[in-house]
Amino acid sequence: MTTTKTTNLISPYGGKLVDLLAPTEAIDELKVYASHLPSIQLSERAVCDLELLAVGAFSPLDRFMGQADYRRVLDEMRLASGHLFPLPITLPVEIDSLVGLDQEIALRNAKNELLAVMTVEEIYEWDLAEVAEKALGTHDLRHPLVAEMHRWGKLNISGQVQMLHLPPHYDFRELRLTPAQTRARLEAFGRNNVVAFQTRNPLHRVHEELTKRATQEVDGILILHPVVGMTKPGDVDHYTRVRTYKALAENYYDPDRILLSLLPLAMRMAGPREALWHAIIRRNYGANYLIVGRDHAGPGVDSNGEPFYGPYDAQELVEMHSEELRVKMVPFRALVYLPDEDRYEEISKVPDQVKTASISGTQVREEYLNNGRKLPEWFTRPEVAEILAESYPPRYRQGFCIWFTGLSGAGKSTTAEVLTSLLLEYGRQVTVLDGDVVRTHLSKGLGFSKDDRDVNIRRIGFVAGEISRHGGTVICAAVSPYRATRNDVRNMVGQDRFVEVFVDTPLEVCEQRDVKGLYAKARRGELQGFTGIDDPYEPPRHAEVTLNTVDYTPEENAHFILDYLKRNGFVRSLNSNDQK
Ligand code: ADP
Ligand code: ADP
Repeated sequence: MTTTKTTNLISPYGGKLVDLLAPTEAIDELKVYASHLPSIQLSERAVCDLELLAVGAFSPLDRFMGQADYRRVLDEMRLASGHLFPLPITLPVEIDSLVGLDQEIALRNAKNELLAVMTVEEIYEWDLAEVAEKALGTHDLRHPLVAEMHRWGKLNISGQVQMLHLPPHYDFRELRLTPAQTRARLEAFGRNNVVAFQTRNPLHRVHEELTKRATQEVDGILILHPVVGMTKPGDVDHYTRVRTYKALAENYYDPDRILLSLLPLAMRMAGPREALWHAIIRRNYGANYLIVGRDHAGPGVDSNGEPFYGPYDAQELVEMHSEELRVKMVPFRALVYLPDEDRYEEISKVPDQVKTASISGTQVREEYLNNGRKLPEWFTRPEVAEILAESYPPRYRQGFCIWFTGLSGAGKSTTAEVLTSLLLEYGRQVTVLDGDVVRTHLSKGLGFSKDDRDVNIRRIGFVAGEISRHGGTVICAAVSPYRATRNDVRNMVGQDRFVEVFVDTPLEVCEQRDVKGLYAKARRGELQGFTGIDDPYEPPRHAEVTLNTVDYTPEENAHFILDYLKRNGFVRSLNSNDQK
């Protein structure tokens, strides 16, 4: 081999670095031209994808995938060109979006800012079930991407893209580097090896130890490369995380050994295939090692409480392809703290009788942050603990969403009303979003077709997400008959502050109550598409709370929910007698 070690750093995966930015002198003219084109508005995910396509992070991919790429990626994890690429990066549009072949269209973000012009060269159907099966290995709606895909348009479009502006970012600008800028910075360090660390979580001492060890072992530089695009719903927001990364990089790492750079990636939470994708991306940013942890990019557990992917599947898949990618896999070795020696050690090197300590991610949230307890210094650097405590007040001061679902007349509104009084008594601020009431303003004009119902529920979910993120309590009471839509809402709000309450009243009972006389109307055929009569209701499979309104009164049921909230720290007991 004649290549020097440094070329190893500068040659991207696929051999060329894509750059879709239009030349500066052409931009003004292009802008005027684009203002006459039909536009489509991109989702947050598509904006992230477009940015990374444009700067060459997905190189050699230089566009949203056409059908040949899409097909081969699903079946063989390769682009039509033969390059390894594990996940479909596509641009879905609605069937009625009026995008035509050979047409140029302007791509805009949510604020309607012009980002790019695309020449539509292909329009093709994609298959949700197939993507779920092949790319994600699951149909389970608890997988956040499966739930999200149900909302995507049914057609994909593809074609050459000319980028006018990268999506604007105003936060942490000095840390936002393109692959080319990152490579240049890395090269200036003058070392041969670059170890990338991918993360969507705050870093604790154990991560610090691990990244330092991995870097030392290969005498390299660490690129601390947190994802700041879209991660798993409910994750610590990136503003908080980046503050912690900066504190760590500035205070605890050798400045000659670390580069902190932000990656505006929209994760898919696709486990092993995602890990491989991360390796390709990091290759493009100049890394030749990637640290891969246990259950890398895993989305938690499925609706049976089982993990979606095997704990070491991601490591194995990256390892299997590491030669072709020229990115070596560094397995994240389990480290434990030895309190008597005040240091970390690999678990496999610690004799049985030696005392060890560790705190799991779940414990960090549930035992420490949620209860307002400070993380110990051996576990988290004090600067980091401080930032986390500021951003994560104890759970009883955080927001949450109670989502009632059940047939019309099941008792959702009645129970919600009692619960509202109880929560106010406990010092919570409460907003109630009742299906019937919402339909008179927020969703005025919507009917009861599946599409209209979904729009209604997503509107409620959107508002619920905003309220709960800002510390409020929101109680939603809508039939919400479709499981997929409820799961979607769960993700919009965030899994760990979403409490689904299934008001499990038998249809016969609801029909007997027939508060509004609607069941009678539906039976007489005067009302079509009535839930439970001639329209489906899909009961939740794993609701946090299930209520029986036949044997228990609304007040008893409201207390039942309150007990759940107390047990989970959402509500602080009023007095010690209350403490069960
Ligand atoms: P939904 O909001 O689910 O459509 P409502 O709460 O508006 O249902 O209506 C439920 C009706 O059933 C009310 O008239 C209520 O008084 C009656 N009901 C009888 N027993 C119960 C119970 N245990 N819980 C809730 N509602 C009950
Ligand atoms: P969804 O979750 O289906 O959008 P909402 O809770 O927003 O339902 O509104 C449902 C309420 O509207 C029911 O409580 C019922 O009183 C009334 N309603 C009117 N037509 C229908 C229908 N076809 N199916 C279900 N509920 C209906």
